[in-house]
Amino acid sequence: MDKLDCVVVGAGVVGLAVAREMALQGHETVLLEREASFGTISSSRNSEVIHAGIYYPKDSLKAKLCVEGNRMLYEYCRDHQVGTQRYGKLIVASDPQQVDDLHGIFYRAQQNGAREISLITAKEANALEPDLRVAAAILSKTTGIVDSHAYMLSLLGGFEDAGGMVAYLSPLNHARVIPGGFELEVGGADAMQLQTKYLINCAGMSAPAVAQRIEGIPADHIPKAYFAKGNYFSLAGKSPFRHLIYPVPEPGGLGVHLTLDMAGQAKFGPDVEWLEIESEDQINYAVDPMRGERFYAAIRQYWPDLKDGSLQADYSGVRAKIVPKDQPAGDFRIDGPNEHGIEGLYNFFGFESPALTSSLAIAKYLKGLIQLEQ
Ligand SMILES: Cc1cc2nc3c(=O)[nH]c(=O)nc-3n(C[C@H](O)[C@H](O)[C@H](O)COP(=O)(O)OP(=O)(O)OC[C@H]3O[C@@H](n4cnc5c(N)ncnc54)[C@H](O)[C@@H]3O)c2cc1C
Repeated sequence: MDKLDCVVVGAGVVGLAVAREMALQGHETVLLEREASFGTISSSRNSEVIHAGIYYPKDSLKAKLCVEGNRMLYEYCRDHQVGTQRYGKLIVASDPQQVDDLHGIFYRAQQNGAREISLITAKEANALEPDLRVAAAILSKTTGIVDSHAYMLSLLGGFEDAGGMVAYLSPLNHARVIPGGFELEVGGADAMQLQTKYLINCAGMSAPAVAQRIEGIPADHIPKAYFAKGNYFSLAGKSPFRHLIYPVPEPGGLGVHLTLDMAGQAKFGPDVEWLEIESEDQINYAVDPMRGERFYAAIRQYWPDLKDGSLQADYSGVRAKIVPKDQPAGDFRIDGPNEHGIEGLYNFFGFESPALTSSLAIAKYLKGLIQLEQ
């Protein structure tokens, strides 16, 4: 059996960016995907927002890779003809008691090095968005939307042009450490065995489950997976807003916010619904229309004119969490040889938002880790 340089597990946006980077570095790389196509799980069930890096704790990987990823993603999309819309975003304190919190967020954004951020008055915010109920706001000019499907298609093209190969309907079932690498059991209709020097686990919310199938990882190095569903409701008719509108955040998520798609159509969400499940295959993605009631109340805090009956249950996605409810959101976690002691193995845990924004910076960061450890 010939040995590959690298196998990446999972063709979501993170796996695609990582696999492309490995192929560009000259590694003979295979990308294994359980589903029939790329990007069908979290990478196509999100808000497509290019975040600016505002909320995350200083010096966290989320903060660093989001700020860098924002810049890299706009540059990449410009150079590869992938659509973006730089709408800008307003974080809105809708009453005066929230203004202190808003200042705290602004301070954090500055510490993170987020670009083109300013505090604006109610008058300035209403000049931009007359329908807002607002006491003060943060304006983030580099927040925007990316056509995430076109972006992933472009990453896939770059990967294949660099000599990479993708195998669909090919779940990684089992792996064991062999001298100088790994032997893999791949399932599906064309079940096969592969050998590889590097094994990179980018299986999204199933990354902990995939890690459990890799013989030799100490059990205490595999985090428990938690699942937090985010439901969206779309707005019937034309959006009254031209910016993305966010309230001051709530625990576990960013609050019921308004985002726009590439065509300017508005949707609200995602909210935060913790699921009592053990694995990804138990997820029900249907959106319960009853959750809409909470949306009306939350949205009317900053948009009092929202009319009854104008929200429709839309789609949902599930966040890849590695910390439970009621604890502060964890950071991105890349476990390499320094953590678990296995040469050539990298596990990506907790790659929830802003991993779409950060994807190119994540791939660059991994390249640095591998170079350091060679
Ligand atoms: C509701 C919601 C809103 C979000 N909004 C934003 C946003 O606006 N901006 C932003 O930057 N980020 C956002 N995110 C985060 C972003 O969507 C995800 O972090 C990102 O898509 C994760 O990509 P991934 O490649 O790690 O995971 P995924 O896209 O889930 O891909 C993992 C892949 O691994 C495959 N897989 C699993 N097990 C196996 C196996 N055994 N063998 C082979 N393949 C396997 C799966 O089939 C899947 O294709 C949001 C997330 C959610 C849930």
